[in-house]
Amino acid sequence: MAFSRIARGSSVTQSLSKLTSETTIVSQTIAKNARYLRHFNLVSSSKNHILLFNNTLQSRGLTRTPQIESPNAKPALDYAEPEVEADELPELGPTKRFEKPRVVVLGTGWGACRFLKDINTKYYDVVCISPRNHMVFTPLLASTCVGTLEFRSVAEPVNRIQTALAKAPKSHFFLANCTRVDADKHEVYCEAVSSEGLPYGPSEFKVTYDKLVIAVGAQPMTFNIKGVEEYATFLREVYHAQKIRRKLLLNLMLSEQPGLSVDEKRRLLHCVVVGGGPTGVEFTGELSDFIIRDGREKYPHIKEHIKITLIEANELLAPFTPKLRQYATNHLSKSGVTIVKGIVKEVQEEKILLKDGTEMPYGLLVWSTGVGPSEFVNNLNLPKSHGRIGVDKWLRVPSAEDVFSIGDCAGYVEQTGKQVLPALAQVAERQGKYLATVFETMAKQHAGKAYRAKNADMGKPFEYNHLGSMASVGRYKALVDLRQSKDSDGISHAGFLSWMMWRTAYLARTVSWRNRINVATNWGTTLIFGRDNSRIDA
Ligand code: FAD
Ligand code: MG
Repeated sequence: MAFSRIARGSSVTQSLSKLTSETTIVSQTIAKNARYLRHFNLVSSSKNHILLFNNTLQSRGLTRTPQIESPNAKPALDYAEPEVEADELPELGPTKRFEKPRVVVLGTGWGACRFLKDINTKYYDVVCISPRNHMVFTPLLASTCVGTLEFRSVAEPVNRIQTALAKAPKSHFFLANCTRVDADKHEVYCEAVSSEGLPYGPSEFKVTYDKLVIAVGAQPMTFNIKGVEEYATFLREVYHAQKIRRKLLLNLMLSEQPGLSVDEKRRLLHCVVVGGGPTGVEFTGELSDFIIRDGREKYPHIKEHIKITLIEANELLAPFTPKLRQYATNHLSKSGVTIVKGIVKEVQEEKILLKDGTEMPYGLLVWSTGVGPSEFVNNLNLPKSHGRIGVDKWLRVPSAEDVFSIGDCAGYVEQTGKQVLPALAQVAERQGKYLATVFETMAKQHAGKAYRAKNADMGKPFEYNHLGSMASVGRYKALVDLRQSKDSDGISHAGFLSWMMWRTAYLARTVSWRNRINVATNWGTTLIFGRDNSRIDA
C-alpha cells in the first residue's frame, strides 16, 4: 500500500525545490496550525495533494496517513475534497476473514477496564480509545486531595490491565476521544486529545469494529447553575484531585501573607463542598481530618479562621439508613464541618450565592452533585433510556447490531422491565466482567465478527445484586450499609470497625499488587509521619 503522495501542479512542484531549507519553518507552521490541518490529514483526497514527504512510519503494523509539509498546504485545503478514503487506515478498516474480530472499547473507567482485563485475547484483538491512559480507582480519589494517598496510587495504566494493548500487534490503545459512532457502517470517529507534538500525524481518525463496547461513563451535573463550570472544581479525575490539593495548600500559605485583612484570610480558608452524596461526604471527611491532624499543626495561623462548609439541598448520604445518616451528620459536625441545607443559585469567582439570599465567600469550592449523561452520549444516534444508552438484558444496544454499553453511560430499556442501575463502580465493574463472558460465548459460536451474532446464544442475561455501600467520614470512622436495597433489611454499622472494613475492602479491590502496596505504604507513612504538604507541582 503506497502512502506517499506525489506532488502535482506547477506551483507545488516549484515549492518543492525550496522545501529542504524551509522544513524547519514549515514544521513550526504546521505545529501552530495543527488543528486546522488535522481535518485535512484524514480527509485529504488523492486529487489535490501537496504532500511531499514520504514519511511513512511503521508502528506495530499501523501505518501513518500521508504528511503535509509545505507552506502551500494551507491554500490547498480550500479545494481539498472532504471525503474519507477507505484505504487510508488499512489496518483499522474492516478485519479480514482470516483475522481475529476487532473489539473497540471506548473508555478506561471501571467498566471498560474490567472488560479489558477479562476479555479473552485468544479470540479477539482489542482497540481501546480513551482520553486517559489509565483507570482511576475512584473510591480512593478523595484521599489524594489532601495527601493521605499519592496520586499514582489510585491510577492504573490500562496497558498493565490488558497487556495485549502493548504487546499484540493488532491491539492498540489510542489517546483520543470518540466523537461519533456510525453503527450502520460499524465505525467510530475519534479525535486525539492533543495534536501537540504531532506535527505530522493525524489527530482525527476512524476505526472499524466488529464489536463495540461503549463505556464512556457520565459527567458531573451542574444543573446549568451559572459559574459552576468556571469556578468550581469537580472530583472525578486525578487532575481534579491535583487541582484541589494545589489550591488548598496555596490558600493555606497565602493566608499567612503579611497585610491580609481578617476577612480575606477567612475567605481563603473557607472550603466549601457542594453535594452531600458519598463523594462529597468522603471528601469533606478527608479535608476535616487533614485540617485537624496536619493543618493546625503545620499552619498554626489558620486555627481561628479555617472553616469547612458542606451544602446539600436535600438529605446527606441519601442511599444510607437514617441511623447512618445521623451518625455521619453528628460526626462531621463534631469534626468542625458546618452543614448547610440550601440550594446554590450562582457561583462567582470568590463567593457563592444561595437561593435564600445568603452570600458565602470561599477560597476552595468542590462540586459533587452527582452525574448525568455526557454530551457525547446525548449526541449518539442510539436508543436512550433516562438519557443513558439503552441496553437489553445482555447489555446489547437494541437496533444497533454489535454495539454494547456498560457502566454509568448505560441503562436498561423499558422493555426489559428492569430499573436503570445506580451509577456505581460495582455496577460498571460487574457489567464489564459479565460482558467478557458474553464475548467468549459469542467467539465460541464463531459470532465474534461483525453481523454474526444475530442468532447466537448469548448465555444468561446480566443480573445485578447490590453488595451494599460504604463511605468513610474521616478521623478513622466510616459507614457500612450492607442492605441490598434502600427498602430491605440488612446489617448497617458505623464507627472504627466500619472504617477498618472500608479500608480492607478497598485495599483488596485495588486493581494491581503494585498499587495495593502503594496504597498500604501511603497509609502507613501518613499514619506515622502525617500527610505530605509540599507544593511540588506548582
Ligand atoms: P468511568 O469510570 O467514569 O469511566 C469513563 C471512561 O470513559 C473514562 O476513562 C473517560 O476518560 C472515558 N471517556 C469519556 N468520554 C469518552 C469519549 N468520548 N471517548 C472515549 N472515552 C471517553 N462507586 C462505587 O461503587 N463505590 C465508591 O466508593 C465510589 N466512589 C466514588 C468516588 C468518586 C470520587 C467518584 C467520582 C466516583 C465514585 N464512584 C463509586 C462511582 C464510580 O466511580 C462510577 O460509577 C464508575 O467510575 C463508573 O464506571 P464507568 O466505567 O461507567 O465510567
Ligand atoms: Mg498492541
